[in-house]
Amino acid sequence: MIEILFATKNQHKIDEVKLILKNYPIKIYSLLDLNIDEIDVKEDGATYIENAFKKARSYQKLANLPIISDDSGLEILSLNNMPGLKSARYAKECGSYYEAFQNIFKLLDNKDRSARFVCHLSLVNFNNKDLAFYGQCNGKIIDVLPSKINKDAFGYDPIFVPDQYDITFDKLSKDEKNNISHRHNALMEMIKYLISIKAF
Ligand code: IMP
Repeated sequence: MIEILFATKNQHKIDEVKLILKNYPIKIYSLLDLNIDEIDVKEDGATYIENAFKKARSYQKLANLPIISDDSGLEILSLNNMPGLKSARYAKECGSYYEAFQNIFKLLDNKDRSARFVCHLSLVNFNNKDLAFYGQCNGKIIDVLPSKINKDAFGYDPIFVPDQYDITFDKLSKDEKNNISHRHNALMEMIKYLISIKAF
């Protein structure tokens, strides 16, 4: 069994990663599981992977375990990939996710609605190696913003319809989202690597 700390404060990410890896010999610990206080890491890197490494490395002194961190975001192709790297910050600056959706719908107007979620995963402290993995999930932004959205939904899930589906990410079952998501695809790259080095 490989034990890994997932360095995030985001409960949605923790739940998803634990579910995605549930059939593999990997035990994922959250910061809460190990009673590790959250560190306020400034996500000011120029790239997702820079931020992902920054987040994972900031916990290295606190946990004698391999550590993963995910930096992810929604990219809308016709809007120069915004909100992208700043997905979390954009919603904060807009006031709420719903206000961010309203702004995005204004900006999109009649433009192409193709979008993707991307996930850059860093793994540090693993056999003295630092590794990076990537996953994406293609789809589009819905045509009309509903007047109400599920308040418990994760981030931009309520406006994103993945390819091959006609409902938004938040309306899929957990298993359905976790079988096709950017996070799933990045974690499967990690699994492929672990299998290739016979880690289990
Ligand atoms: P960070 O990786 O902590 O910088 O935050 C990524 C942000 O991207 C999240 O706070 C969400 O706004 C958005 N995001 C990333 N993955 C997802 C997802 O699976 N669903 C919805 N929003 C997501």
